[in-house]
Amino acid sequence: MIKFGPSGFCEEFSLTNKSTEEMPKWLLNHNLKCYELSFTNGVRLSFETAEKYGKLFSDANIEVSVHAPYYINFANPDPLMIEKSNGYIIESLKRMEKLGATKLIFHPGTQMKMTRDEAFNNTYNNIKNLINVLDEQGFKNYILCPETMGKHGQIGTVEEIAKICTIDERIIPTIDFGHVNSFNQGSLKTEEDFAKIFETFKSYLGDRFNKVHIHFSKIEYGKKGEIKHLTFDDSVYGPEFEPLAKVLKKYNVEACVISESAGTQTKDACTMQNIYHSV
Ligand SMILES: [Zn+2]
Repeated sequence: MIKFGPSGFCEEFSLTNKSTEEMPKWLLNHNLKCYELSFTNGVRLSFETAEKYGKLFSDANIEVSVHAPYYINFANPDPLMIEKSNGYIIESLKRMEKLGATKLIFHPGTQMKMTRDEAFNNTYNNIKNLINVLDEQGFKNYILCPETMGKHGQIGTVEEIAKICTIDERIIPTIDFGHVNSFNQGSLKTEEDFAKIFETFKSYLGDRFNKVHIHFSKIEYGKKGEIKHLTFDDSVYGPEFEPLAKVLKKYNVEACVISESAGTQTKDACTMQNIYHSV
């Protein structure tokens, strides 16, 4: 099943609303079925508030995913910093139990001064160890969703994310198509371009390749990849959603498709939903 929804508050929502409490009703009014809550700059949500939001979203039958803090870096060679990254994941998961959310999206790491191989191997091994830590601490029903990234200094090409997902069945990809397009200087144009991504995941993950999490927005890029998120008004950078919509149907993809447009997330999520149902 495919669901569509925004990440965070769009400008239109903020004009008349102040709190996440008002989001379920807003989404119902727009006929959207999922929402991404971001702990971008730290996990500050209280357990009590998380529980309150969880009830409101579940009453509205809206699936919530959570974006973990941006500080996470599983490539870091310093064990103390890995403890911190594990901590951000653990604190997020604790709130998610109250929110009724299972999917945790995170940025895997940055290359720093290391070679790509070194940085990737650190990332892979530290995420493998993280799963053990989560098992030891008794976490259940969570799905980790490492994200494909847009800047060249970040770990998270399609291939790297596919390899990380082979660690455990509880790891599935977050495919951020705007990031993939930015990383590769505008590589996503045709249906085949999008299909290739799913073929890569299929070659690593077999039958479960079509269960993913999706971020979609148009993104401005330069020589080193991602520069900034745009809205659907952009006609220069892309990618376009139409060819992807066809591929999502062709591969029977099950996902929440989250709009990360700059300020127009709700509107653009609705546009994607309409396109998906019309192709
Ligand atoms: Zn992200």
